[in-house]
Amino acid sequence: TVLLELKNVSKQYGKDTKALSDVNFSVKEGEFVSIIGPSGAGKSTLLRCINRMIDASSGDIIFDGDNVCTLGKKNLKTLRTKIGMIFQHYNLVKRLSAMENVLHGRLGYKSTFAGVLGIYNQDEKEKALNLLEGLGLGEQIYKRADQLSGGQKQRVGIARALIQEPKMLLCDEPIASLDPNSSKVIMDHLRNITTSYGITCLVNLHQVDAALKYSDRIIGVNQGKVVFDGAPDEITDEI
Ligand code: ADP
Ligand code: ADP
Repeated sequence: TVLLELKNVSKQYGKDTKALSDVNFSVKEGEFVSIIGPSGAGKSTLLRCINRMIDASSGDIIFDGDNVCTLGKKNLKTLRTKIGMIFQHYNLVKRLSAMENVLHGRLGYKSTFAGVLGIYNQDEKEKALNLLEGLGLGEQIYKRADQLSGGQKQRVGIARALIQEPKMLLCDEPIASLDPNSSKVIMDHLRNITTSYGITCLVNLHQVDAALKYSDRIIGVNQGKVVFDGAPDEITDEI
């Protein structure tokens, strides 16, 4: 079944910058899809439109049966629990521990009384602990985020996204700041999250080799347009 569908999505910044022009594609449940393309192609804009961090200028984005573009505030919150975000620069709270970052990342948490006081219940703690251990961070649970390596930070970012039990992860250049070893660890985890847990991944990558190795499908974007959409073995030198 189709989880995400983009229909004629365009995005214009200001008067002159057309970041996306008539983008069409869909992603099936349980697919691992990479978006590749040069810097400035519109990849990041694309992901930000999908979870409504920004508004598309025109077109429709259907996620899990809802039109993302017309969702009201309340439904938007629900949408964002279903879509986990992973960032190039991790976006962790530096002074908080790995564990607190994961717990704190839960949507709506910061606006609750417990959230203000930093109190978490036992179930949530256990869930965070299991996720961190599953990601190989058993030794780092109480370390401050700013004392972790880049690869460890990104794994905390993944745990923070997973604690909401999302249907899909949107990953914006998740390995662009990492060395080859950490990159492999992160890509292996992301791939496993799709293969073993059925969570759909849509990943912006500028490393074509990683896209080829890990993806079920690759979408090539250039100057705001989809220029390729197919399996890794259909990639030729032309794009
Ligand atoms: P990519 O992620 O592929 O590098 P982006 O989506 O970041 O591409 O950018 C696509 C185009 O939109 C680029 O020309 C970029 O300069 C422009 N752009 C991105 N964000 C903004 C913004 N907030 N305001 C104006 N222009 C932007
Ligand atoms: P194993 O012991 O087989 O390695 P784990 O449960 O320890 O399995 O987790 C391994 C991988 O599965 C990690 O990449 C982790 O991110 C992912 N994972 C663990 N729990 C979940 C979950 N609830 N949802 C999605 N992915 C998960």
